[in-house]
Amino acid sequence: MSLVPSRECGNCTVCCKVLPIRSPELNKTSHVLCEHCEAGEGCRIYPTRPSLCRSYYCGWRMWEALPDGWRPDKSGVFVDRVKFLSGAEGEIPAQYDKRFMVQLLLLRADAIDGPHFAEVVWTLVHGGIPVFLGICGPPGFQNALVFLNEPVKDAVARRDRAAVVAIARQAAATAATHDFRPL
Ligand code: SF4
Ligand code: SF4
Repeated sequence: MSLVPSRECGNCTVCCKVLPIRSPELNKTSHVLCEHCEAGEGCRIYPTRPSLCRSYYCGWRMWEALPDGWRPDKSGVFVDRVKFLSGAEGEIPAQYDKRFMVQLLLLRADAIDGPHFAEVVWTLVHGGIPVFLGICGPPGFQNALVFLNEPVKDAVARRDRAAVVAIARQAAATAATHDFRPL
């Protein structure tokens, strides 16, 4: 896996809270800070952290196309490339690659209004990548996701930033009405 050389996690600890981790060494659910994490500091067992933690990187660490300032704790958006979640395949048209999807998980509601949000959406959508806007579930639950490519495609084609942001806001409002599903 190649990483963007100039980027480091620093004191970001977003994935140590957001992600569920099930391994022989650690069993934590979603949206609960890992017992080994010092919030805003980092992992207290970094040299001996579980192998799942060692091999995980969020989208910001991997994709140069994301802005440098988009470390998740700063942008308020956790970008994650994941295998298609069970049930999500049926929501999207046949032409999309259904092996992987990208979640833009909002850590703060106002992250949609932050710098570069629209540009990130159109970079991903223009590349044909299935993109889901997400809001965080409660501890132990999945995130609520809304497929973004179809609703934003015309706005993306026009490079209409305001429209992309407005559609994303609507998608977040729709996601907020979903019933969260347990992991
Ligand atoms: S969310 Fe990304 S930047 Fe933050 S700690 Fe995890 S891998 Fe590093
Ligand atoms: S063990 Fe360390 S790296 Fe892994 S989730 Fe916990 S704090 Fe994060």
